[in-house]
Amino acid sequence: MLSGGTVTSPRQRVDQLRTQIARYDHEYYVLDAPSVPDAEYDRLFRELQALEQAHPELITSGSPTQRVGGAAAGAFAAVRHAVPMLSLNNAFDDDEVIAFDRRVRERLHEQHLPQEELRYSAELKYDGLAISLRYEAGLLVQGATRGDGTTGEDVTANVRTVRAIPLRLIGCAPRVLEVRGEVLMFRRDFERLNERQRNAGEREFVNPRNAAAGGLRQLDPSITAGRALRFFAYGVGEAAGVDLPDTHSGLLDWLAAAGLPVGAQRTVARDAQALLDFYRRMMAQRAQLPYDIDGVVYKVDRLDWHDALGFVARAPRFALAHKFPAEEALTELLDIEVQVGRTGKLTPVARLRPVFVGGVTVTNATLHNEDEIRRKDLLIGDTVVVRRAGDVIPEVVRALPERRGDQVRRAFAMPRTCPVCGSAVLREEGEVDWRCVGGLYCPAQRKQALLHFAQRRAMDIDGLGEKLVDQLVEAGLVRTPADLYRLDAATLAGLERMGEKSAANLVEAIGRSRKTTFARFLFALGIRHVGEEVARVLAQRYPDMDALMAEDWAALAEAKNAIQKENVRRRARGEDPEPVPLEGIGPEIVAALQGFLGEEHNRAAIRALLEAGIAWPKRAQARGTALAGRTFVVTGTLPTLSREEAQALIRDHGGSVSSSVSRKTDFVVAGEAAGSKLDRAHELGVAVIDEAALLDMCKRSIRS
Ligand code: NAD
Repeated sequence: MLSGGTVTSPRQRVDQLRTQIARYDHEYYVLDAPSVPDAEYDRLFRELQALEQAHPELITSGSPTQRVGGAAAGAFAAVRHAVPMLSLNNAFDDDEVIAFDRRVRERLHEQHLPQEELRYSAELKYDGLAISLRYEAGLLVQGATRGDGTTGEDVTANVRTVRAIPLRLIGCAPRVLEVRGEVLMFRRDFERLNERQRNAGEREFVNPRNAAAGGLRQLDPSITAGRALRFFAYGVGEAAGVDLPDTHSGLLDWLAAAGLPVGAQRTVARDAQALLDFYRRMMAQRAQLPYDIDGVVYKVDRLDWHDALGFVARAPRFALAHKFPAEEALTELLDIEVQVGRTGKLTPVARLRPVFVGGVTVTNATLHNEDEIRRKDLLIGDTVVVRRAGDVIPEVVRALPERRGDQVRRAFAMPRTCPVCGSAVLREEGEVDWRCVGGLYCPAQRKQALLHFAQRRAMDIDGLGEKLVDQLVEAGLVRTPADLYRLDAATLAGLERMGEKSAANLVEAIGRSRKTTFARFLFALGIRHVGEEVARVLAQRYPDMDALMAEDWAALAEAKNAIQKENVRRRARGEDPEPVPLEGIGPEIVAALQGFLGEEHNRAAIRALLEAGIAWPKRAQARGTALAGRTFVVTGTLPTLSREEAQALIRDHGGSVSSSVSRKTDFVVAGEAAGSKLDRAHELGVAVIDEAALLDMCKRSIRS
């Protein structure tokens, strides 16, 4: 059991429960900041009720089972309710509803009332806080909270700011009419409020109910006004000088006609079965409603029978709250495991002690990322609140650090290598997620990598779709893309839905894909951030895969950075910027290339692909090689070519381009307003040529 302690006698347990419940009541009713979910509170409350039932001698008038809510906080003037504002008895399952219906019928029978005329009015149980609105001569004169049921707090000034509450009744002006209902907050408004709280660095609210309660019980009504509170009426307290309908369902219609908001979801039911049908219908609609409900309420429809049925300690006998399965529950965070997604993303997942919440048993929940774990301050072994609302995936909301006691808890640390393949993991600057860089090798990413590799815009392997990739991977036939090139028709024909003809076609398509372009091949590798465009740029700048794999990415990143900084200074001085190496390839791409190509597993997979015969026309071979082995530096403004075009031209003709002049430089191609590089060339005695001379060299190289 989560609430620990060795209990020796029922009396001790009863005392323990009362103390615990009193603390939770204070947090909930007075501070508007509960520390445990309602389900946990309800569990303790029921345990106390059961103990008191078994040991009636232990019942005292001070027991929480004998009274309503919490005492008023004292900050507001007290309001005595002419008609007490009670709680409701709760039912958690069908049998309790059937028993309620049976009890009602028995009592009606005892009192010689025609139980065959019994009807129930069923409506939603709004998850907010009860309020009493007093209208005199049709005008709102007072708003009061429920408090302990007898005495509440005067929150008139605050209630007046709630737009949903009419200040004047429509079409009637009874001498006294006390409307009872629930103040609540729509989920959307709650999210916005918490966002504002977060941005202001202030405490967030646990749920819309507590945000609404906190909003209403403000000493400054302008704060209440900013909370977007709503209201639904569900009954009447004191009434004088008015002829009200004689059924509860009629009363709700009457209230709606008088301008009070009344929920649309309600019905009149003849028996327990019809009540249960309503319950299930509302449960299905629960997630779609803009506000929280925690169940439905059944009330005997004839109002004159309410008195006949009477009250037990804290609740009427003529009504029942049928609660929905709790959306929040407590459990233990057993461990935090890391899953690797199809794209290599590492996701921490909470392994939980199985807990029934939101109508299902939850055993794990995603924790999204490392930051989320820190933000929620979760430690392995913690007691945590788990939430599952509607079809939304279960979530670990927060930990209960006060339950840690003296036990040492383990903090979570993100692994530094992929838990699936052992490759390095990388977290980009400004990103929240860690990713495995073993894209071509990691089993978790296998299917995704193969599908990407085969797609039309990459290696264009016709017929290699999702289903086939699934089969190939699951049968262990393909682990990395290179394995595709070893497949034969006989092996493929053995697969599901694969005839001989299609097997032969696929083998042919795979074979055809060997002839490709460098850019397509680069794109096919599935390197993060290397889309088609980036792949094209890389294919232009590097002669082949070897050059790309030999690149010192860390040094390149450093050089890029240094030149970019220098260019800022140059621009400030009105000078021409220096060409930046690998222009257009940003730092995150460089980091991704470094990560991917730095991983030996990936390099092996690439080599295997090249060995499998993948090839593309080599640029330098196709043109000329007269510039081969020569290093050029381009500087200044050339008459016709842009600096980039000149550099591409040099590379196309087998030359290489450098960004700075050194003794190794063979030619400096200088244009208008060339600056320090030209000076440096003169200094070192490097040959300086112009654009025309460069073009001439290239022409000769084609002829030769
Ligand atoms: P309740 O919420 O179970 O039921 C009574 C209340 O229901 C009424 O006072 C009214 O405000 C509301 N209600 C909503 N729709 C209604 C409708 N259509 N007709 C009539 N009433 C309607 O009882 P309670 O005494 O207000 O509160 C007890 C509950 O509060 C517990 O069951 C628990 O879930 C929660 N609680 C939680 C903590 C905690 O620490 N988490 C502490 C105290 C209480």
